[in-house]
Amino acid sequence: MNKVFLLLGANIGDPPSQLAQALQEIQDQVGKVEACSSIYKSEAWGVTEQPTFLNQVVLVSTPLPPISVLDCIQSIENRLGRLRLTKWGARVIDIDILYFNNTNIHHERLIVPHPHLPERRFVLVPLVEIAPAFVHPELGMTTTDLLAQCKDPLIVQPYTQQSDDAIQID
Ligand code: AMP
Repeated sequence: MNKVFLLLGANIGDPPSQLAQALQEIQDQVGKVEACSSIYKSEAWGVTEQPTFLNQVVLVSTPLPPISVLDCIQSIENRLGRLRLTKWGARVIDIDILYFNNTNIHHERLIVPHPHLPERRFVLVPLVEIAPAFVHPELGMTTTDLLAQCKDPLIVQPYTQQSDDAIQID
């Protein structure tokens, strides 16, 4: 079985339910979900004039090869009604492949490890929760080390329905 780490993100519609739906579809079509991080609330990266994101990282064991996993996650994104108006813009659901076993892939449709992984706190914070000792196959650094040296200033906090309500009341 292949071990693949996926990053889920959503910031429009009903993000908690979109993450739950995506997780269910991943379980049905990609393979067994072995581990799931908590859900985190993350300031938008790149384009900051948009709602904050909810993000989650999951570890899936799958018999599928990398491009088939990419096909599956893209069809899940399409089915959940992904709406992408601008690069780094608002999304109903976004699913990225972070790691695929400990291989390096440079394909025209797929780059693994995900090239932005080391510079994004919203990836590293959930990833460190479920895979602190996983070693980045190109950089030779653990998730814990990558997070310690990450310069991303954007805030990533655990998400709870309660904290979400509190922010809306403020
Ligand atoms: P995004 O808009 O960030 O979801 O990017 C989607 C595009 O990135 C698609 O055309 C994918 O083929 C490509 N891509 C390259 N590497 C990856 C990766 N590791 N995970 C997901 N999509 C990828």
